[in-house]
Amino acid sequence: MTAPVAAEALLAASAPDHASVTLSVPEACARASAYAPPLIGTDIVTVAQGTGRTLAEPVVALVATPPFTQSAMDGYAVAACGGLAVGNRVQVVGRIPAGGRGGKIAPGQAIRLFTGAPIPEGADAVVMQEHVDRDGDIIVLRRPIRTGDNIRINGEDVQPLEILLQAGERLDARHLALAAAQGIGTLKVRTRPRVAVISTGDELRQAGDALESSAIYDSNRPMLLALIEQSGLVSIDGGWVPDQPEMIADRLLCMAERADLIVTSGGASLGEEDHALEALERAGGSGETLKIALKPGKPAVVGRVGSAAYLGLPGNPVSSLVCWLLLGRTMACSLEGREPPRRLGFPLPSKSAFARRAGRTEFVPVKLEEGHDGLGVEILGRGGSARLQPLAEADGLAEIAAESDGIRPGDLVLFHPLRGGFAI
Ligand code: AMP
Ligand code: MG
Repeated sequence: MTAPVAAEALLAASAPDHASVTLSVPEACARASAYAPPLIGTDIVTVAQGTGRTLAEPVVALVATPPFTQSAMDGYAVAACGGLAVGNRVQVVGRIPAGGRGGKIAPGQAIRLFTGAPIPEGADAVVMQEHVDRDGDIIVLRRPIRTGDNIRINGEDVQPLEILLQAGERLDARHLALAAAQGIGTLKVRTRPRVAVISTGDELRQAGDALESSAIYDSNRPMLLALIEQSGLVSIDGGWVPDQPEMIADRLLCMAERADLIVTSGGASLGEEDHALEALERAGGSGETLKIALKPGKPAVVGRVGSAAYLGLPGNPVSSLVCWLLLGRTMACSLEGREPPRRLGFPLPSKSAFARRAGRTEFVPVKLEEGHDGLGVEILGRGGSARLQPLAEADGLAEIAAESDGIRPGDLVLFHPLRGGFAI
């Protein structure tokens, strides 16, 4: 697959040696996504299977909703004719449940009806059942009522032919409900990118292996596979490879047959034991090392091999997670032809002091704390890009602006939740 014109232009414009230029996070993301042009495939899925998928074409309204004027409450349809005062007596002449039909009233009459029932002819308001006293077939108003009260007008939510959802929308339960309310049963969505994860590093062992001295267990691969699944992508376990460029290259070639994006962890920096870029080139691919003003996160490698995009993440677990959330998800969104998620973050005061030097955007694990002075965040696990425990305990990541030369209690940081979906 060839990169589209815009991506080619971007790649050509800012020529090679990015390792010597420090990029901001948005610059690095733009650079990374240029290696991940949109995939062309689409799938038809049932609405129920649509969660997390990206729409390939707009959804246009077929019918008005509500499709008929209806009651918003359990109560009595009346002819308010402008308004009825407290104490007004009205005679109940019929009953319409939701799904029922018919009915007609004259002024001074009412029909008992339920939420979602059609408004009978002659009625222009619904009195809530709690706002009347009933005596046989007579109701007495306890509150005044005006024309239009408690009525949902035909088409007040949606009009036929309105564009309800745009192509590129990432579907969640709310969008699926909007489509389902139209009687739509299937949706055309973009192919889900397949993302392979390979761990690299001589020191890595797998569950069940003995842990001899100087070895550690591989925690990045399960973490990254889970992050990929959580992002609604198809994950492929690409296994482990030692720090041998030829072996990494072979594995890249093998995964390029099966994946749209290959992610490796480890060896992405510029030391002599860092083989990501060399392996990529040996496999016939090409790419570059991005030096990003980001902490944690050493340089990351981006590129292409065969028909797959490539992302080489740093090995430290927190760096790996942060770089996946920033660069990896941006690349995956680009493959899926949609905008990357907006990294909004909620400004919250820090309850902790945090010493640092200005220069790099920093993400630190934090816990939400509700105190007498309101909601804030406590910074966890100082300085540990290899520490998983504070990360697992965190409610989210706090983003500290590059220019900040330290956080004092009360200073604002941007909170990105790590629970209930990743927001950065
Ligand atoms: P590297 O990016 O290869 O220089 O590795 C940086 C640190 O991350 C080293 O301490 C590695 O042992 C560690 N590391 C690399 N890969 C993994 C992994 N898959 N799981 C856990 N730690 C890792
Ligand atoms: Mg290494």
